[in-house]
Amino acid sequence: MSWSLKLGRIFGIDIKVHLTFLLILIWGALNYGGSAGPLYGVVVTLALFSLVLLHELGHSLAAMGYGIPVKDITLLPIGGVARLERMPEKPLHELVVALAGPLVNVILAVVLLPVITVLAVLQGEAVTLGMLTQPGLLGLLAFLLTANISLAVFNMIPAFPLDGGRVLRATLGFFTDYQRATQAAVIVGRVLAVGLGLVAIYTGQIFLALIAVFIFFAGGQEGQAVAARGVLRRVRVAQALTPHAVALSPEATVGQVASLMMTNRQPDFPVLDPATGQLLGVASHRSVAQAMEQGRWRSRIADVMQQARHVPTIALTATLDEVQDKLAQTSSRVIAVYDGLHFRGLVSLEDVYRVFQFLSRSGSVGRIGWQAG
Ligand SMILES: [Zn+2]
Repeated sequence: MSWSLKLGRIFGIDIKVHLTFLLILIWGALNYGGSAGPLYGVVVTLALFSLVLLHELGHSLAAMGYGIPVKDITLLPIGGVARLERMPEKPLHELVVALAGPLVNVILAVVLLPVITVLAVLQGEAVTLGMLTQPGLLGLLAFLLTANISLAVFNMIPAFPLDGGRVLRATLGFFTDYQRATQAAVIVGRVLAVGLGLVAIYTGQIFLALIAVFIFFAGGQEGQAVAARGVLRRVRVAQALTPHAVALSPEATVGQVASLMMTNRQPDFPVLDPATGQLLGVASHRSVAQAMEQGRWRSRIADVMQQARHVPTIALTATLDEVQDKLAQTSSRVIAVYDGLHFRGLVSLEDVYRVFQFLSRSGSVGRIGWQAG
């Protein structure tokens, strides 16, 4: 089962909420309700998360402006996540996309401030911090004002995976390449994380300590992912194709293919037209196992395979980071590799990882990437 609930669609983006979010609503009901009761607490929490949603929509719209599709936005208890189909790598694009989220909060804060002041004057109240905990429209708006400021400030901490980390990398990216910019941003983030950790220990703030640990490790992951992409970018698909891969005839039966699969470690088998050598489809362990479960031992493999029109394709000259991107965009396990019009083989994420592991063992990753310790 999925742990996310779909709330609706905005600008063609699915808005989802993680089921654990309900815990935050209960927490909000108990903590933000004050003298007005738990229902008011729920209203405050929902208002807070609509700010997070608007923040994520800011990132999403900026990304879509650069032609990057957004898969969905999920609200989690710790905040929101907008899943972009790919990360913008051009410094200017990354800078704009990263800034767009916090910018939404800044704009909201700028709009809220005069509204609150006018409202307070009309009600004959002074604008004070005490307002924050007062139930009512004024209290709610004042709470949202401070929440917007906190969201903008927190997210601009220059450490991955926060927006500030991306802003820093994008800014460095104007002066150096993407890899070096990432390495430098990771180091800055880690230094900050250690600093935050020391402050947390000194002041005894557990939540701050958790954030410090999170930033420290998440930054390392970003650095490694970028280093890995740098390696994959230099390897062509042709080098990842299994030579002499076994191909099947469309007339082979499910039973025959199953016994072949038990002795051959190849994960996916191309089914080829015997006359032309063109790809008709792909037989995977899963499709064959499913057919066997249904007792279709004698069926032709051509009737149970993934049809070629559902298999994405890529050129033999493409690089492995392109394969990785393409696989991330489809539900297919494999991509068909073509040399012009000629089918040359299948490539999967496992092939990408195999090549990557080989290269990292041979030491070429360490030289490119920045690793801790
Ligand atoms: Zn953000």
